[in-house]
Amino acid sequence: MASVTFESVTKRFDDVVAVDALDLAVDDGEFMVLLGPSGCGKTTALRMIAGLEDITDGKLLIGDQVVNDVDPARRDVSMVFQSYALYPHMTVQRNIESPLLVRRYHADGPDRPARKLTRSERDERVNEAARVLGLEGFLKRKPAALSGGQRQRVALARAFVGRPQAFLMDEPLSNLDAKLRAQTRLELVDLHRRVETTVVYVTHDQVEAMTMAQRIAILSAGRLQQVGTPQEVYGAPANLFVAQFIGTPPMNTLAGTVTTSDGSAAVEVGESRFPVPPDLKTPLEEGQPVIVGARPEHLDVSAGGSIAHQVRAVEWLGHECLVFGAVGPSPVVVRQVGMSPHEAGGTIRLAVDPANVHLFDPGTTERIT
Ligand code: ATP
Repeated sequence: MASVTFESVTKRFDDVVAVDALDLAVDDGEFMVLLGPSGCGKTTALRMIAGLEDITDGKLLIGDQVVNDVDPARRDVSMVFQSYALYPHMTVQRNIESPLLVRRYHADGPDRPARKLTRSERDERVNEAARVLGLEGFLKRKPAALSGGQRQRVALARAFVGRPQAFLMDEPLSNLDAKLRAQTRLELVDLHRRVETTVVYVTHDQVEAMTMAQRIAILSAGRLQQVGTPQEVYGAPANLFVAQFIGTPPMNTLAGTVTTSDGSAAVEVGESRFPVPPDLKTPLEEGQPVIVGARPEHLDVSAGGSIAHQVRAVEWLGHECLVFGAVGPSPVVVRQVGMSPHEAGGTIRLAVDPANVHLFDPGTTERIT
């Protein structure tokens, strides 16, 4: 196991800056998810850890060692791809064993020379990997005779068998159907808990990030936007990008103006008023433009309130309703548990707890704290 540290790492492809001065420390044994939309640089960041891309600028460390110029084969990390990349003509056993046949390992201790493993050492490791991934019954089969989820487990076992310092995973669940994806998420979290290996996991799927990560690093256009626990990035997004990227439906964000006319500050959006978060350190000024944010589940329809929501459509999902509409000119979605009595065309009054209101600077898009 080892930590992985990016120190101001930049990767350029000609004039494209794929990763821009990334500072990120993945702790030893941590499950870190790199999350962001397509093209934000997350795969490039992962490939730099694996040594599959050169680093243009900055330093990358695995443990205490700077690995910028270390050959991929000597980095002691394993990568699991979306496509599994299994050998179709080999049995599951041989697929899992394959990295052990080509690589040398410090099997006699870290200070002794690396060497090829013996047959019985390989068998022992393959059996252990198969046991950990629940593949004991499938070792003699070929990949074609396995389900998608089983194939993915073979790819994981193959990554696991070399006992790497870190697992690197690039969208490993995206070829699975929704049910299997949900099940494999739980299995991966359980696997991580048992083996306690450092995992760097790339996805554009925020549900995967929220459910599996110990911490999430959110990237946009090559730049790190925020790193934090799922609770931190959901509860206190650092900027508008994170606020709108995490959460389904996303946070409602509305352009408003600060008013201090009643002695206490509020945000006016048309005729509606939003309270401001408690304990703001930044003073707000009369007439100051802000973006006010509230998550759909934090808008309370039951209490009446100072926010007028014109209802345009109601989606009933069984366990909850999504009430779509607008506050002033801005679209706003309200999540309500149970059956909604509201009908398209009406207006409902919403309240929101000040602690659940977020303010952002419209110029910088940063959160106002
Ligand atoms: P996706 O989820 O679509 O894989 P990503 O977040 O992983 O996206 P990257 O694949 O890291 O993004 O790409 C980041 C940027 O770098 C993109 O603009 C991409 O076009 C560019 N890029 C990636 N690889 C290369 C390459 N080999 N040559 C030129 N540009 C590249």
